[in-house]
Amino acid sequence: MEFCDLYSKSELKNIVNNDIDKNMLNHAYLLCGQDEIYLSYLAKEFAKNILCVSSGCGVCPACIKIEKGVHSDVLVYPKDSSKGLVVDDINEIVENSYIYPLEGDKKIFILNNFDLSTSQAQNKLLKTLEEPPKTCLFILTTTNPSNILNTIKSRSKSLSIPLLGSDDVQTFILKNSSFKPKEVQPFVSSSQGNLTKAVKIINDDNFLKIKDLALNTVLKLTESGEILRYSSQILGFKDRIKEIFDELSLVFLDVMYAKTGLEDKVVNQSKLAEYKNSKYSVKALKIIYSKVLEAQNKLDCNCNPTTVVDGFLITMLEVKHKWK
Ligand SMILES: [Zn+2]
Repeated sequence: MEFCDLYSKSELKNIVNNDIDKNMLNHAYLLCGQDEIYLSYLAKEFAKNILCVSSGCGVCPACIKIEKGVHSDVLVYPKDSSKGLVVDDINEIVENSYIYPLEGDKKIFILNNFDLSTSQAQNKLLKTLEEPPKTCLFILTTTNPSNILNTIKSRSKSLSIPLLGSDDVQTFILKNSSFKPKEVQPFVSSSQGNLTKAVKIINDDNFLKIKDLALNTVLKLTESGEILRYSSQILGFKDRIKEIFDELSLVFLDVMYAKTGLEDKVVNQSKLAEYKNSKYSVKALKIIYSKVLEAQNKLDCNCNPTTVVDGFLITMLEVKHKWK
């Protein structure tokens, strides 16, 4: 994947360089954020920053080896990114940590999605984090810090990594897909600053269908007699109903901006006129938006999807008519 040097723009680079300059580089860093792909990219760039002679140039032998995953002093775990680390992996890591670095003066362990590791594995790493070999640096990433032991957190420097802006996501999608600039807008808005989400939707044939369905539900569903048709279309996407509610929330937000004179904040500019002409009052939009969030919570709590979807659509029309 092409990241267009997002690391240089990140606050992380400043923090790392500052720690290096002050000779206060920690032995463990915990990168917390919502974007798995961006976090693992940053962890790798962090390693380049440490082992490259010119703080991560990208073209020297060390940078190229790290990029290819063949640098002998940079070890990335887990090998299968969907699985968490188990005690055997940590035993291997601990053993490796006592082997002196071969190419540079630091040995770097990147442990991605560390929250997926078993608690036994986390506990096992703890001892090494308490008294790490001087040559070792651990970079942990997580999208779910609450699943990481507090004792691990307290022994690492935690850094919160914000999501990216839409310009960066747009550049990323254009570089990593065959889309043309004029086609890219729906993907950028639905990515919401998250590269992991972007990668998922640019490879997803149903994405535009889901987006259209959400748009039509907001703009074209006007009669209660049509609820059944819309409901069965939404439920037809089975395990992706939460995503449809995500999209619904984006459309309602857009309509709200269009109706309150904040036109420049509207993401889907091609629908601006339709948003403005839609029969929602601002009061109704606010209530319906809160109902979208409520429905998402219910889905998170494993409520019956049919009940949630039908209930939402009925309420949406009721609120729309009540607060004209
Ligand atoms: Zn370099």
